[in-house]
Amino acid sequence: MPNVDLDLHPVDNITADAIGQPGKRVFYIQGWQGKRTITLIIEKIQLQSLAVGMEQFLAEIQGKFPSLNEASAEYIEANMRIHPPVDPLFRVGELGLGYDAENDLVVLVARELLPEGGQPSEAGVVRFWCSRSQLRILARWGLEIVSRGRPSCPQCGEPIDPEGHFCPKKNGHKH
Ligand SMILES: [Zn+2]
Repeated sequence: MPNVDLDLHPVDNITADAIGQPGKRVFYIQGWQGKRTITLIIEKIQLQSLAVGMEQFLAEIQGKFPSLNEASAEYIEANMRIHPPVDPLFRVGELGLGYDAENDLVVLVARELLPEGGQPSEAGVVRFWCSRSQLRILARWGLEIVSRGRPSCPQCGEPIDPEGHFCPKKNGHKH
């Protein structure tokens, strides 16, 4: 039995983010549902290929179900930052996508990276059920995060160091 087997059905929000200095950034996926926050560690390259894969997947759904409205790509950056606690459940090994046509929900399935010799049945799994717009926004925002050296401050747009930064928009207060 896997130690983690969770469904966020549906997520209130799902996002990705990076924390750390350029070249040493750690990437995360985070979904939340009510008071529950699930954070997973993901490699930068995984996030990048996931973003591309999600766009392709959405295009396929749209092709199959032409009457669906187009998924929105609009987001507010301040809402896309991950929230504390950044307390990852596991490091992602495999990612998959599925679609529940009846409820028009997309599922992002994240499976735990197993240590060498680990049994696949022991891998933790988290299923994030999202709207197509939430998935598209995750794709767009994910690519944005991958392409940046450092996360930028939602207040002033300046890059934020791991220690925080002195924000001119907050009169130099650290945040
Ligand atoms: Zn700032």
